[in-house]
Amino acid sequence: MTKPFTAAPVDAAVFCADIGGSFIKLGVSRRAGDVEEFGKVPTPTASWAEFVAAVQGLLNEFGGDFSADTPLAISTAGLVSPQTGELLATNIPAFTGRALAADLSRELQRPVTAANDADCFALAEAYAGNAQHQPIVAGIILGTGVGGGLVINGQLVRGHGGVTGEWGHGAITRTELTLNGKVYPIPRLPCGCGQLGCLDILGGARGLERLHQHLNQQDRTSQQIVDGWQNGQPDSALTVSAWLQLVAEPLVLLVNILGPSRVVVGGGLANATALIAALDAQVRIGPLHKYTEPLVIPGKFAGNGGNGGMIGASVLGRLAV
Ligand SMILES: [Zn+2]
Repeated sequence: MTKPFTAAPVDAAVFCADIGGSFIKLGVSRRAGDVEEFGKVPTPTASWAEFVAAVQGLLNEFGGDFSADTPLAISTAGLVSPQTGELLATNIPAFTGRALAADLSRELQRPVTAANDADCFALAEAYAGNAQHQPIVAGIILGTGVGGGLVINGQLVRGHGGVTGEWGHGAITRTELTLNGKVYPIPRLPCGCGQLGCLDILGGARGLERLHQHLNQQDRTSQQIVDGWQNGQPDSALTVSAWLQLVAEPLVLLVNILGPSRVVVGGGLANATALIAALDAQVRIGPLHKYTEPLVIPGKFAGNGGNGGMIGASVLGRLAV
């Protein structure tokens, strides 16, 4: 059996940045798991030189009290290859073909490390969140789409090409669902990854909206659908019941493969705690091991505005230094 781990406290300061398509946020961590946020600026997405200048500007503005070689740890959208450092599937054109950490380290003259935001979320939950000190932590993102990251005994698993835990990119095997005695076909929509019918297209917040349109021919936001379901509104109840089945089935497979002690949910849908509780109940019917405690739980750093990216980066920065 795997042993729980305890993170060793390291007192050196680490700068942490969360880099998304809209903003670069900067903070400092004086202890793994703690981050003091400094400020943010819009992300210059088109130009590498302007991006470097924006990060340097934030460090100049807020970092004057720290030594010039204080490391910078980054949580970013996109997959970071541990073999080449290259960023894949990024929504920031300035990063295309860049080895983000190595190139930025050269420009800023300080150690820089970078990881995918879902990976950072999983690290944050394993060190300082709702899966603290658990041996096997699967962080799953139910945001715009579906993503994930894996932390085993406190170590982020960085798979080949930076891909680990990306359970959203595989086709839903089910072709139809029976709901309230009626059979509905499951739409097989093209995914950005090149496959057809990925869970990513139907399992996140946009997916919930696509399912609602498919089943009820209505445009509703994910929030309206979740609210409607909680208020007993039949159309929304139909959609949520379909969503629960479609997401729970691949998640049971993930649970059987990884044997996680916790599956911690991040992304916008994690704010819908009743929805995550319903998903947990649905998932726990399936695995070979019968979990007697909640398995699928909202993350402490989940949702929009949660700073799991920077907190995870604060852990990563120390592991890498
Ligand atoms: Zn896909």
